[in-house]
Amino acid sequence: MLTLRDTVAYVAPARADDLGKTLYERFREEPDTLIVPVLDQDNRPIGLVERNTFILRMAAEYGRALYANRPISGLMDAEPLIVEAAVELEAFTSDILSYRASDLLRGFIVTDGGRYLGVGTVLALLQAASEMNRRGVLALAQANASAEQARTFMTAVVEAIPSMVFVKRADDHSYVLLNRAGEKMLGHAREDMIGRTDAEFYPRQLAEIYLARDREVIQSGEVRVIEEDHVPRKDGSMAIIRTKKIAIPGPDGQAEYLLGVSEDIAERKRAEAQIARLAHYDPLTELPNRLLFQKGLSEALARASRREDLVAVHCLDLDRFKTVNDTLGHPIGDALLKAAAERLRRCVREGDTVARLGGDEFAVVQTGLSDPSDATRLATRIVEALAKPFDLQGHQVVVGASVGVAISPNDGSDSAELLKKADMALYRAKADGRGAFHFFERAMDDQLQARRSLEVDLRVALIQGQFELYYQPLFDLASNRVTGCEALLRWRHPTRGMVSPADFIPLTEEIGLIAPLGEWVLREACREASGWPNHVRLAVNLSPAQFRDRRLVATVVSALAESGLPAERLELEITESVLLQDNAANMSILHNLKALGVRISMDDFGTGYSSLSYLRSFPFDKIKIDQTFVRDILEDPDALAIIKAVLDLGASLGITTTAEGVETEAQLEELRRQGCSEIQGYFISRPKPASELAEALGVGFAATRPQGQGAVQVTAFKAAPRSSTISGVVAQEHMKRAVPSRKR
Ligand SMILES: [Mg+2]
Repeated sequence: MLTLRDTVAYVAPARADDLGKTLYERFREEPDTLIVPVLDQDNRPIGLVERNTFILRMAAEYGRALYANRPISGLMDAEPLIVEAAVELEAFTSDILSYRASDLLRGFIVTDGGRYLGVGTVLALLQAASEMNRRGVLALAQANASAEQARTFMTAVVEAIPSMVFVKRADDHSYVLLNRAGEKMLGHAREDMIGRTDAEFYPRQLAEIYLARDREVIQSGEVRVIEEDHVPRKDGSMAIIRTKKIAIPGPDGQAEYLLGVSEDIAERKRAEAQIARLAHYDPLTELPNRLLFQKGLSEALARASRREDLVAVHCLDLDRFKTVNDTLGHPIGDALLKAAAERLRRCVREGDTVARLGGDEFAVVQTGLSDPSDATRLATRIVEALAKPFDLQGHQVVVGASVGVAISPNDGSDSAELLKKADMALYRAKADGRGAFHFFERAMDDQLQARRSLEVDLRVALIQGQFELYYQPLFDLASNRVTGCEALLRWRHPTRGMVSPADFIPLTEEIGLIAPLGEWVLREACREASGWPNHVRLAVNLSPAQFRDRRLVATVVSALAESGLPAERLELEITESVLLQDNAANMSILHNLKALGVRISMDDFGTGYSSLSYLRSFPFDKIKIDQTFVRDILEDPDALAIIKAVLDLGASLGITTTAEGVETEAQLEELRRQGCSEIQGYFISRPKPASELAEALGVGFAATRPQGQGAVQVTAFKAAPRSSTISGVVAQEHMKRAVPSRKR
């Protein structure tokens, strides 16, 4: 009697903590492996992984991303069919077929005393039975004559197996058996096929191929596998199958039958194609991904170097993608990416590659350039194409794009280098105001290095306390005294010396340091100002980036509470850009700040859009007219006209108007004549550290200038022991002046 031991095939088992990708690689390398048992430390089976199910799960969208680095224990069937090797074959099949038929067909685990021995498959069962019991095969053949024939375990297995099983005679190659799955797979009823040959079903050429293969199996007496066969069905469609064939000998040892088992691999082929696609294409835009892009670029560079052609790499990103995503939501953001990808495809010629590198980053490989002007033309087309409005589910959206270009061989000859340089050029294009393209230049390399080292230094500076605050007085023209001071940030770098805020604030915003730095400024300045006389206010600049920090209001509350500075003595200076971005959210923060009793100033008015509507959209307490107008006030009638207009507007809205950048007495007198209420600038004082400020004001501002109707009378912060004239202070200022008065 046969036992299961006679059918077992050894398959190397897996461990539960093996990673998904390891098993995936194995299935790819071993096409014959249909199931893999999973064992514990003691070699006891705890699960089973079946090839097709596993590959399908890995291929499902992002399946590999999900499962590749997870243990296979999450992917195995934890209740496999496990049988002891000593069980008799016939008892096993009749028993199992009645209640776990599908497990049998998928494959099962055979143990010896509980320890893993090998796996069993239906084909192995059939083979074992047919080789050792010829009557079994005859029973198979006879089973087709009448469905009422007694069902041996073999005929039952054959009928239930989901793979196609067929038997042909070895002499005339006519079919003697086709199971139910085979009928379904080929579309032919078994009654039509039994007794006939392939020549009667298939085109002559195909039938000849099948015949040659059958003869090969019969002559060799070995198992033959046809990995992938496309077989026409009755309805004309194609079955994609994988077939194993063996010859079954008769009593004289000569082949009498040919047994074949075919499985449908169409689904698996689709899954594998999907995996290949996922590995190389972006599922959203269906553009090549970074991997395929780099491959394409390397190939293009190799071809170009043989022909001495130029290859251009264009890196681009959408200028306002984040805003669209944040304000209209991700579905619209995704629609935008798809639409942008489509426009990019239409910009390039056949043979050029467009890829999505990630997020809103795209890249183009342009080949066959005769000179760099070809790259200029494509970059221009791209910028123009993406500048046009997008209609996204009823939303009109204008985003624009910036492009950076690097050209081989001039800028480099390998793909990584070119991509990096195109990226640097893109960075420059964005810094230069977006919506434009920029070619790589050697200087960018140096700039990038400098920027990186500045970034590192900035992080250290915050930790080591290298930042300082300077204060610049605000002078009230009606009362002729200092009524406020603006806190200005300075960075005393251990080796660079004083770094201008213009050089580090933008980077601070970019690398996310502005929130902690802004908070430090606020707390430090409030603490300092709490020691000033009650009539002196503190002005602190807020960067638009600080409005993205939703704790801003709480930080202000806590800085005031901690220092004891009354809210009405704090003025927060904002620029128009705060109102431009994310209007509703920022407006609500502004109202919350105002509700605390804090005053809000519009800073640098006249430099941006200068929309008067901003002044109406929020009840500002102060407008600060930018120094560029004040500078030209005496020479340029237009500058004067603008200042007059803003002063009039301020007066009618009941808003204080401050003129920034006042450098001479003549400017001061003109502003006074026009009705300006407050001034700031070197004529009064340049920004000073807290210690010097108290001293300078205590000394210099305790004076009265006697001459002229516009005499400046300044009251010191503190009772001043000495006095001198403001002119003296101003003269010193001018002598010391080394940097432009542009402030931050
Ligand atoms: Mg300011």
